[in-house]
Amino acid sequence: MIDIHQHVNWQGKNDKGLIAYLDDAGVRKCWLLSWESVDGSREQHYQHLSIQDVYRTYKKYPKRIIPFCGVDPRRENAEKILMDLHKKGFKGYGELKFRILADNPDFIRMLRLAGKLRMPALLHLDVDIPSTPQWYLGDIIHLERAARLCPKTIIIGHGPGWWREISGNAQKVDVIYPKGRIVKGGRLWSVLERNPNVYADLSAQSAINALSRDIRYTKRLLNTFRKKILYGTDSYDTSLLNFLQNLKLDSGVFKDITERNAQRLVRG
Ligand SMILES: [Zn+2]
Repeated sequence: MIDIHQHVNWQGKNDKGLIAYLDDAGVRKCWLLSWESVDGSREQHYQHLSIQDVYRTYKKYPKRIIPFCGVDPRRENAEKILMDLHKKGFKGYGELKFRILADNPDFIRMLRLAGKLRMPALLHLDVDIPSTPQWYLGDIIHLERAARLCPKTIIIGHGPGWWREISGNAQKVDVIYPKGRIVKGGRLWSVLERNPNVYADLSAQSAINALSRDIRYTKRLLNTFRKKILYGTDSYDTSLLNFLQNLKLDSGVFKDITERNAQRLVRG
């Protein structure tokens, strides 16, 4: 299996702890993501998820780690930094989690470059709701605009702002992890359907929360978009894996989601 959403030096796990977790969970490789934000002083975690730590871990465990770098588009010479990191062996652009809208021209420039370099881009969406007044990249409309402006770039949706759109009533809900029945017409479905370059990341509380709402919808989603959905955890537990196993998906669908799709997007 490949886990497409991992971090190091996060929630008390160093590189050794990360590899031990991958071994236990039966994961062969992971995409290791950084998180940086030039206005990140308000964030308690961002500074621990540095591009340098990703690189160090990759050098130590080159067979297990696929390195990603989430260069903030607001950095001086951001494009040159991304090109240089690509030359050093970085394979993807992420995690992308900043307080700018996803169709911001500086960000679009970076996403286009990532597409040229064949680096998939992983976007964390959070919308501004009363209970969590911290937004990142805007909502699914901004993600779709970015995907259209960058048709050669693989855009992977992740986070509460993305997964709430599994249901057609997303905009009426004002909690970060909405519960309850799924209403038809969720924008996540239509965005996946009409944009060949948009994919979905199954990691974190946001995804498993959405998938747990209505199993019939979940199965339909996973089967319909079996070539566009990617197994990831963003944590060090196997609750998502257990959840997927309990769904008893067709073995080909399971393999697409947990391994083959990721392998197709990033070789290495
Ligand atoms: Zn993450």
